[in-house]
Amino acid sequence: MKNTKLNAEQVWKDFEDLLAPQLNFSVIDRAVYSHLFRHSRLERKLRFRFSMSWLAGRIRLSEKTTRQSVRRLIARGVLRLVERSCQAHHVVCVRLPQEVRAVCAAETAARGPARTSCGAGFAETDFLQTRALRRAIHAREGGRCFYCLRRLIPQRRCLDHVVPQANLGSNSYRNLVSCCLDCNSKKGERSAEEFFRSLYREHRLSDDELTGRLRALDDLAAGKLIPPVEPSTKGAK
Ligand SMILES: [Zn+2]
Repeated sequence: MKNTKLNAEQVWKDFEDLLAPQLNFSVIDRAVYSHLFRHSRLERKLRFRFSMSWLAGRIRLSEKTTRQSVRRLIARGVLRLVERSCQAHHVVCVRLPQEVRAVCAAETAARGPARTSCGAGFAETDFLQTRALRRAIHAREGGRCFYCLRRLIPQRRCLDHVVPQANLGSNSYRNLVSCCLDCNSKKGERSAEEFFRSLYREHRLSDDELTGRLRALDDLAAGKLIPPVEPSTKGAK
């Protein structure tokens, strides 16, 4: 992420043509992103500090709605949360559309020839659709709970939506993780980040583990954590 002068016209086109449709932005997500973008990257600032009440007031939405949208944008790798203080201030890095898209390009490259049968719609594949796809998500986590890192046994594991379906979370591999039943029931409607921090407060994650988990969350939303799908089993029920 470089702080060079922007081609605002191109950014606007990328936003309308790529970012918003690819990540299924709601009208609210558009308003939140545009406003944060206006005050960060258009001012040549990589990081931007704001309070939820300020943002909500500026875009004329409730704080709750605004907060949910900020969480969605963080979970999808559009915003990167740098800091959240107890005075309800957030510091975020606002990514340009092509910075989010670059990750998608990297994903395609990382998939390589062995996985090209996944096709262009891989990012939109419903990973709850077949047993093989569900197993691929479990396999990606390497037998550990995505949240608490506890070792999983097949009888005590499940798949969790990082962004809950109620908040328009999808069944994409970018939004599904393998986790233990405890974490699945405790996380509820909280954001993954909030849940990680609660595990940290309960001393179930160390400093380093928390940092690693937040990075994994960014990577997940950015599409970097690609499940090992066997081309021959992709369509099997
Ligand atoms: Zn767990």
